[in-house]
Formats: sequence, C-alpha cells, structure tokens
Amino acid sequence: MKRKTAIVLIFCVMLFITACSDNSSEPKKSSADFFAMDTYMNITAYGENAKQAISQAKKQIKHLDSLWSVTDENSEIYAVNHSNGKPTEVSKETAELLTFSLKMSKRTKGAIDPTIYPILNAWGFTTEKYRIPSQNEIKSLLKRVGYDKVRLIDNSIQLASGIMLDFGAVGKGYASEISAEILRNNGVSSALLDLGGNIKTIGSKPDGSEWRLGVRNPKGKGNIGVLSVSDLAVVTSGNYERYFTGKDGKTYGHIIDPATGQPVENGLLSVTIIAKDGKLCDALSTSLFVMGLDKAIEHWRKYKDFDMILITDDEKIYLTNGVRDKFSVNKDNNVKVNVINFK
Ligand code: ADP
Ligand code: MG
Repeated sequence: MKRKTAIVLIFCVMLFITACSDNSSEPKKSSADFFAMDTYMNITAYGENAKQAISQAKKQIKHLDSLWSVTDENSEIYAVNHSNGKPTEVSKETAELLTFSLKMSKRTKGAIDPTIYPILNAWGFTTEKYRIPSQNEIKSLLKRVGYDKVRLIDNSIQLASGIMLDFGAVGKGYASEISAEILRNNGVSSALLDLGGNIKTIGSKPDGSEWRLGVRNPKGKGNIGVLSVSDLAVVTSGNYERYFTGKDGKTYGHIIDPATGQPVENGLLSVTIIAKDGKLCDALSTSLFVMGLDKAIEHWRKYKDFDMILITDDEKIYLTNGVRDKFSVNKDNNVKVNVINFK
C-alpha cells in the first residue's frame, strides 16, 4: 500500500518564488524527491550551497535506512534482531536512536515501544500480508514485548530471547534532525524537509514569511486546516495512513497499543506534534496517538515541551495554546475547535 503523506505542502508561494527565480535578490532554490524508509521524501532548500547540501542529506538518509531497515538482511537492526541474545556492535547513529527511543518509552510509560515488532509482524504490518491474530497468539507474543528487555552498553545492543526492534515510529524524525544539521552545516538557512509527512523546517521562507503546512483531514480528502511555522518540526500520526480491512469488515491501523497488542482505536483520528526537535515530534505523535485524548492532554500539561493538534472522530479539533494563532481551519470544514490550556 502506498503511504500517503499526512501533511502536504502549500505550494502556491513556492511557485511564485520559482517564477521569480531570475530575480537575483532571491536565493537559488534546489529540490530533490526520493524514496527512502518506505516512503516518499522531498527536501527543498535555498541558497548557494543548497544543491550539494541536499545531495549530502539524501545520501545520509539512505545510509540510515540501510542501518535501520527491519527487512534488509544487511542492516544493523536485522543483525541485532537475529543475534539470538548475543551482544551486537552497532554504529553511533543506531546506538543514539535506541537511547532516545528507550528514553521516550520510559517517558510515555511504554505507549511507544521499539520492541513492538513481533506484534506488528503478526498483524502483517511488516510484510503487508495482513491478518487478524487470535487472542492467544497476541497473548503469547506480548511476552516478547518490553523495552526493559533491551540492553545497550556503549555501542553494543543485547536483546533478551525473542525480542526484536523496529524504529518505524522514530526513525524518520531522527533522520530529519540529522539531515537538517547537514543542511545548516552547509550554510543553508531556509529549507523544508518532508520525510514522508515528517516535516522539518529550517528558518522561514526566503521572503521571511512562515512556511504554510496543510494538516490532512483524517476523514475526508484534502486538508482540514493550515499551520504556519518557522524553524520547527511538525509530525502527524494517524491510523488512516496505513491500515487494512479484516475479514470481519473492520479496519485495523498500523499503530499498536503495546499494552494490548491491538491496533489503536480510541476516538483519536490524528495527532500532530509541533516542536523544535523532529525526533521528539515523531516519538510523541505515535505515543500520544496510543494514549488517547485525555492522557495526551495530561502529558502535554506535565511536559510542556511541545504543541499539538488532535483530531477526534466526533469532528472536534483540540489544540494547545501555543498554536492557537498559528492554525486556521479551512472554511468548508464544519469542525469545532477547542483550545487546551494549562490548568
Ligand atoms: P508513520 O511511520 O506512518 O509516519 P508513526 O511515526 O506514527 O507513523 O509510526 C508508526 C510505525 O511505528 C508503525 O508503522 C510501526 O512500524 C511502528 N509502531 C506501531 N505502533 C508502535 C508503538 N506503539 N510503539 C513503537 N512503534 C510502533
Ligand atoms: Mg512517530
């Protein structure tokens, strides 16, 4: 199944910039489209060094993909997952991603868990051979899930027997941070990275205005609204992106609640996280989707290091105070907007 991006860009102003590209005061625009980490990606950047910076970033993303792919027999994660309990030496990048991933598992009390792989596999989300596993199968597979069963000592990973890792929920966010750093190190001060709906912006648009990002309507076509940002990451998770319809006629989405081994079904349709750090956004979008509305709000009130836009199946949008003036609902959408404040 093709993955649709959760956030699409509003291109009008960019087209205008392209049209004016012979104006020497406008910085030069460079752009690349490519497929990596099982999704379509685009990097657009401005400035003299943008072209070669993008090509360096693209190369690095492909490299990270080759380290973290669960299906590529030559990847580091494949080696770790087939190590039969032996410690396996990994790269600095993989060790860092695991460290971050485990930190987020603790912070979210296991709502996001990199050891969810055996359950994902049982539902067919890793192979696209979808099926509904029996309760007994899930019960026994849940014994193979638990981030406390992972050891990381220096750059060496050791998994307890039967444990397997999957970085699907954090890898793209991490890659967006690493890529943005490559662009910045090359002197790029205006760029937009779209790694399969994981958006990361550097600075503002070359004309100084904010980037305008469409937030997907999780129920219908197109966007439900537009978010204006600069120098921030924006990541959306939802079960409408990748799902299957079972023999029972029900739809099952690709985000699993590690507490039950079942695809999440809690009234949330999508969770969009807005913060400086793309990897934080990626981890939180998945985990707050698992938590559901009330716990997501609780989490925000406790940590306050991000903003969020939650869309529920009863046609409501809940957004945090920090983005209330940055998000505008499209006129033709009949949704009620609720602002979440500190208590
Ligand atoms: P996407 O990858 O579509 O942008 P997410 O960032 O929300 O969306 O990640 C979802 C992916 O993470 C799933 O496809 C699966 O590989 C993995 N996953 C699903 N549920 C969990 C979970 N509870 N914890 C960790 N990873 C998960
Ligand atoms: Mg995620």
